[in-house]
Amino acid sequence: MRLCAVSVDLDEIPCYSAIHGLSARVPALEGEACHAVYRRAVPRFEALFDELGIPATFFVIGRDLADRTAADATLRLHALGHEIGNHTQDHFYDLVKRERAEIRAQIVGGNEAIARVIGRTPAGFRAPGYTITDTVFELLSELDMAYDSSVFPCPSYYAAKAAAITGYKLRKRPTHSVIDDPHVLLAPAEPYRVGRPYPKRGRGLLELPIGVTGEWSARLPYIGTSLIMAGKRGALTLTKLIAGRSLVNLELHGIDLADAEEDGLNDLREHQPDLRKTRGEKNEILHAVIEALHDQGYQFVTLAQAAHVFSSIERHEH
Ligand SMILES: [Zn+2]
Repeated sequence: MRLCAVSVDLDEIPCYSAIHGLSARVPALEGEACHAVYRRAVPRFEALFDELGIPATFFVIGRDLADRTAADATLRLHALGHEIGNHTQDHFYDLVKRERAEIRAQIVGGNEAIARVIGRTPAGFRAPGYTITDTVFELLSELDMAYDSSVFPCPSYYAAKAAAITGYKLRKRPTHSVIDDPHVLLAPAEPYRVGRPYPKRGRGLLELPIGVTGEWSARLPYIGTSLIMAGKRGALTLTKLIAGRSLVNLELHGIDLADAEEDGLNDLREHQPDLRKTRGEKNEILHAVIEALHDQGYQFVTLAQAAHVFSSIERHEH
């Protein structure tokens, strides 16, 4: 079986100011530019997926839905047959360090905000910054979520993130990112039921890990940012390295189709290297990669559909 699920985390521009320890009030990032993901990038994703004829999963942050354009876009994506997933109420990068009750409120808040817009509670969850814990898994099960997709068992991403956070601390820039427990690197790279601790297999919630290439290529990250930074040829090489996985879980971000020049995001360019490519270049890379996966025999589904398929296989096996 070869399934591919493309997902897009709709982190709005202020999230990037928070990671990079920039003030949310950098002048050029006020006004229109603050809404570039929903107002500029989402329509481009709609066009790309329509052209390719594939469904996708969009992970939405609850608080963003207070904005009319974001709520309208979410409803439109839902009506087009895309899945809407829960990316928490406020996208706190340090979510896992907070009290259990607050973590629960963040998950419930995201579910409720989305249900108010689309009339349906999301099936899936994605944690901010790929950081998840046993407590979060427990709460997701209690709340009857069908799957989680936050585990990113990728050594090079882990190393790069840890280095960046250390750099921010040395420069005394207040980043909100947290370093994950290194045990995440031992987690399976294929769909699995979580145990305790969650990187082990068990009988808990179904986890659909974020894409990494095969074991012998040292699990390179297979996400929008790395494909874009690798350029078209590099992205196609990474695609050859991931082909063979039963599920290719390709995670993108709204900003992947933003354009620094056109969307007023030049102030973020220095910190967010993928903004140095134009939206045209980025669109071409994503298009080429999805076509290559299609040529490799991959069938495109939403993450909820993938979760359903993997759960039915399990029922068959037991
Ligand atoms: Zn996010």
